[in-house]
Amino acid sequence: MVQPLALYIHWPFCKSKCPYCDFNSHVRERIDEPRWRAALLAELDHWAPSLKGRELVSIFFGGGTPSLMAPVTAAALIERVAQHWPVARDLEITLEANPTSVEASRFAELRAAGVNRVSLGVQALDDASLKFLGRGHNAGEARAAVKLAARLFDRFSFDLIYARPGQTLEAWGEELAAALAMAGDHLSLYQLTIEQGTAFATAFARGDFRLPDDETQGALYEMTQETLAAAGLPAYEISNHARPGQECRHNLVYWRYQDYLGIGPGAHGRLTLGDEKRAVKNFRAPETWLKAVEHDGHGVEESLLLSADERRDEILMMGLRLGEGVGRDAFRAETGGDFERSLNAARLASLNTAGFLVLDETGLHATAAGRQRLNAVLGALLA
Ligand code: SF4
Repeated sequence: MVQPLALYIHWPFCKSKCPYCDFNSHVRERIDEPRWRAALLAELDHWAPSLKGRELVSIFFGGGTPSLMAPVTAAALIERVAQHWPVARDLEITLEANPTSVEASRFAELRAAGVNRVSLGVQALDDASLKFLGRGHNAGEARAAVKLAARLFDRFSFDLIYARPGQTLEAWGEELAAALAMAGDHLSLYQLTIEQGTAFATAFARGDFRLPDDETQGALYEMTQETLAAAGLPAYEISNHARPGQECRHNLVYWRYQDYLGIGPGAHGRLTLGDEKRAVKNFRAPETWLKAVEHDGHGVEESLLLSADERRDEILMMGLRLGEGVGRDAFRAETGGDFERSLNAARLASLNTAGFLVLDETGLHATAAGRQRLNAVLGALLA
């Protein structure tokens, strides 16, 4: 069967670098946007012959800050995609946006370009927290941008970061209630983590701030799960909540370990080509990628053939993030074997007894407690 395809397009630029961010995002004084547009289009052209005929189910503009991209660039890319591939009738086109007033002023043009879903980086609903997180917007702008997104787009979501320094259960409960009052059918709620190489990593090591202790973090996570489930937006993934049917289809492709093509600096892909599945990775540095595309027509740094064992590990790493887990059919199709034959029975049994994993007739699932500490669970399962 020919697999459907999702497309990720990376726009690597931001106005400033947020202190917690370890994404492939860069600040540049000047961007030659026509040159960038041409390169992104060229990389689409490069992939079109080898992925010919695949139905495209989603386009996702991520970053960086793709809401800083000129709407004409988004429009050109969407148009080119439709020239190369048949698109699903309910094609989801998501764009990540920051809720500054400048970016919000482009929403209507982005809608006209074909974007039908936005995901807003709100991150907090009070000005002091936004300042701590180094964001370029205030709470008033965020609320206005969410309102505008709700009016203009078929679907929208926004992100918040919790487990911030000093955040109590009570304060987070109030923020969640305020978020739910303005939410649509999808919310992404991430715990603040300190990533290596970020400004927060340095400040944290210096003792400038502390995170809530493990117990408080656990309680904040549980409260988040319960509050969102009670509001009709249960977690379908560790940090993502939606009304049933309103999950982000693009991210579901990743977590269900289906095929996606990545375009732009640092973009990754997983592509089934004939009998092979490949892990494709683009050059990460924006200018290196740009020059490679201008020279070779693509910015691929590495294209690795994935072994059966690697595919087994990847489908578990991705699928156990989801509430639905990894289905038996999907696992068999990817690895050629069953869970019982492919996994260590003793390890599986002990993770089941500990309350982290469940294997039943539909497939393998992580419990809520298992999802909360998924890296450790996977480490024990696949050791
Ligand atoms: S706007 Fe987003 S991608 Fe850019 S630096 Fe901040 S968190 Fe990172």
